[in-house]
This record gives sequence, C-alpha cells and structure tokens, in this order.
Amino acid sequence: MRILVVEDEPTLCRQLQTLLEQHGYAVDTASDGREALFQGQETPFDLAVVDLGLPQLSGVDVIHRWREAGRDFPILILTARGRWQEKVEGLEAGADDYMVKPFHDEELLARVRALLRRAHGQSRPVIRSGPISLDLRTRTLSVNNQPQELTAYEYRVAEYLILNPDKVVSKTELTEHIYDQDFDRDSNVIEVFIGRLRKKLDNDGTLKPIETLRGRGYRWTLATREGEAS
Ligand code: CA
Repeated sequence: MRILVVEDEPTLCRQLQTLLEQHGYAVDTASDGREALFQGQETPFDLAVVDLGLPQLSGVDVIHRWREAGRDFPILILTARGRWQEKVEGLEAGADDYMVKPFHDEELLARVRALLRRAHGQSRPVIRSGPISLDLRTRTLSVNNQPQELTAYEYRVAEYLILNPDKVVSKTELTEHIYDQDFDRDSNVIEVFIGRLRKKLDNDGTLKPIETLRGRGYRWTLATREGEAS
C-alpha cells in the first residue's frame, strides 16, 4: 500500500514518513499544496494524509480538486487543535477522517488501517480467503493458521492481491502500489516475489491462489470473506 503524506512542517513530515514506512507502507511526501495536487493526480495512491494548513494551495482546495478529478483514495486530514471549522470543511471537501495535532502514533496507524480496509469493502481487520488469512493489524499472513515468514515486499504484494480479489492486476499496477517514487523499480522482481509467494502459500501446489494471465498480470483466485476479529 502506498501513502502520500502532505505536510509543510519538515520535522512532522519526516516523522510521519518514518512511522508509516516502519509499519510497512510505501510513502511519498509533498510539502505544499501544488505539489500535493500534482502527485495525487499523477500517482494511484492507496491513501493520503493531508495537513490542511499548507502553502500555495490549502489542503481543502487540494482535496476538492482531487475529488473533482475523480481521485477516490481515502483521505485522512490533520488539523490544529480548536479549529473545528477546518475539520468540517475538510470532511465536506471529500476527506474521510481527521486527526487533531498533536496525535499519538498508534491512533494515526489505526485510522490509516481502518480507512484502507474500508476502501476495500472490509469491515474487520482479519480477511480470510480459503485456508489463507491476512491480519492487517499485525501484517501476518497465515496458511491453515500457520503464520508464514514473508519479506516486507512479499507481504505488500500478497496484501494488494488479497484486497483486490478476482481483479487482474498488472505488474505495473503492483509496482506502483508497493514502491515509493524514489525506489529503483524493476518489474521483473515482481515475478520473483510472486514465485516465492506461491511456494509459501501453496507448497503442495493444489490451492493455486495466484493465477498468471500471460501479458496481463496476476489474479487472486480465492474468494475472500471477513474473518473473526480475534
Ligand atoms: Ca501546516
């Protein structure tokens, strides 16, 4: 999952980037409204965290313009304490949730996870798909209740496919959602990740959770359902 952080205060921007990267997200940043507008229109982010007080173009204007342009990723706004009107304007412009500064890291992460799963039609943090389960809180993938050891990128690929079941996902799309813009991408690496995931999720080759569609991409073949919240 790839997140855009829009924050003009450099220290807070770096803190947010580090926090989200430590929790497994690919993160890009923008420090003013114009740059944010451009990035949000050019890149298929999974979510944006947007401070409303920005130079060049306000956060509310950025959100308005993204929504006008058909950008539908979830948006979490950051507002200063006591500025309730800002929250209302931000939500009315198309944001989905808000946090008042200063905030606790755990609360921000919980809101980000909730917005991401809701955007994929999931109301619970554990998703089941055949014998495979994905716990979005702990970033754990289990097969028959046995947690699997995945690298960070293998997890990102698996999570993206499971949250988009039955959809043909191209290598380009996967690349765009698992790396930030500074990463030196090589879409051949995706084939390597998929090969390793197949071994880890389906070691006897009977389940076939990931189908390859030659020249088009990959498809998660198992139906997903919501798991128990425990
Ligand atoms: Ca600001």
